[in-house]
Amino acid sequence: MQEVSLTQGMLDIILEEAAKNGARRVTQVDIVLGEMSGAVDHCIQFNFEYLSKNTPAEGAKLNFHNVAKKARCLDCGHNFCPSGTLWQCDKCTSSKLEIVSGSELYIKSIEVE
Ligand SMILES: [Zn+2]
Repeated sequence: MQEVSLTQGMLDIILEEAAKNGARRVTQVDIVLGEMSGAVDHCIQFNFEYLSKNTPAEGAKLNFHNVAKKARCLDCGHNFCPSGTLWQCDKCTSSKLEIVSGSELYIKSIEVE
């Protein structure tokens, strides 16, 4: 259950931001979630509802922006979306790849009132 500590970490940031802005309530949180980040949106949602009870973030709406995994081939420069567990360039079959996106997980914006 790595999502619990992960969600707690996010909640800490959210509450800190809300306090800085003198907010009474957090209404919405935009979260960027990469496909390979290892986190699952409904788990974060579930933990958030539980952890945010009796805080200004209780009842805040979480908007997840999913980012698909993308890789770049270091041999031919081809950009593609790897599928399955086989990581191979679909143009030249090289396995020297660089991850371009998909591992991110961060709070994009917070809406308070
Ligand atoms: Zn290639």
